[in-house]
Amino acid sequence: MIFAAWNYGCLMSAAPFSGGFFSDRRAIVHTLMKPQTDLIDLHTHSTCSDGTMTPSNLVDHARNSGLKVIALTDHDTVAGTAEAVAQGRLRGIEVIPGIEVSAWHDGVSMHILGYWLRPDDEQLLARLARLQEARHVRNLRIVENLQRLGIAISMEELQQEAGGGQLGRPHIARLLVAKKIVRHADQAFALYLRRGAVAYAERFKYKADEAIAMIREAGGLAVLAHPALLDSSLRTIPALVASLAGVGLAGIEVYYPSHSPKAIRQLRDLAASRNLLATGGSDFHGEAAGRGFPGLTGKKFRVPYQLYESLKNEWRKQNGEEPA
Ligand SMILES: [Zn+2]
Ligand SMILES: [Zn+2]
Repeated sequence: MIFAAWNYGCLMSAAPFSGGFFSDRRAIVHTLMKPQTDLIDLHTHSTCSDGTMTPSNLVDHARNSGLKVIALTDHDTVAGTAEAVAQGRLRGIEVIPGIEVSAWHDGVSMHILGYWLRPDDEQLLARLARLQEARHVRNLRIVENLQRLGIAISMEELQQEAGGGQLGRPHIARLLVAKKIVRHADQAFALYLRRGAVAYAERFKYKADEAIAMIREAGGLAVLAHPALLDSSLRTIPALVASLAGVGLAGIEVYYPSHSPKAIRQLRDLAASRNLLATGGSDFHGEAAGRGFPGLTGKKFRVPYQLYESLKNEWRKQNGEEPA
């Protein structure tokens, strides 16, 4: 792997589970108080992208929280999937090797999830390396922009903040909070890092049809992530989904913490009417990020187990075998 260096730290990371004893214990108490069956989460992140738990710790935490299935869907990388799948086998929880790819479609930036890709596919790794390089170039530009604004910040500090994982704007935001330049990460995005803000820099992304092809050619199923984040009215979503379905989109992420019951209904109907799969997940980035696994958030967020079964059946149908 030519660009393996970007991901070296996340594979080798042995950082202690930040939540430690208390988080584990809380999860267990929760499970005892509210017995849950067949909880699943098809959208999670580890330190290989912008999550705060290593792949192994994430899997342990999911297992201790009573989940039966999770998908590891790090941004633009599959570097953590081998570790997560192995840990899942060890702990008796199914881990789907996945990804979340950023892509453009008609000037709009969106996220495409991929499920059961072959993490060692040479073509996939080469295409992802291009994205990792683009992230690196973008980080350099943002740091330069911040320096130009008189903020003392360096790439070395950022690398420390990320703990060896994939660097991105969330890490820059955390560093700006640590430096007391801003009060919280949202303010960092609003003042400096969001699109159009003073330190923002664009980065290369594939077009949505290219991202879908990349996932499919690596054996995976492609799913449009959190459509209501693209358009909260959902008015533009049916046309977008129709267009992406034409180039191989397999499903829509219907269940998502910020999707309203009405949005969930509409998206479920849209998936059904187009004969697409429905998926769902919490977009877990770690306990500190304030978003728990399904069944543990207190907001009654759940992802139906049947969605996982349908997803797996579709994968079997397309590949004529069991997922590895
Ligand atoms: Zn996303
Ligand atoms: Zn995500």
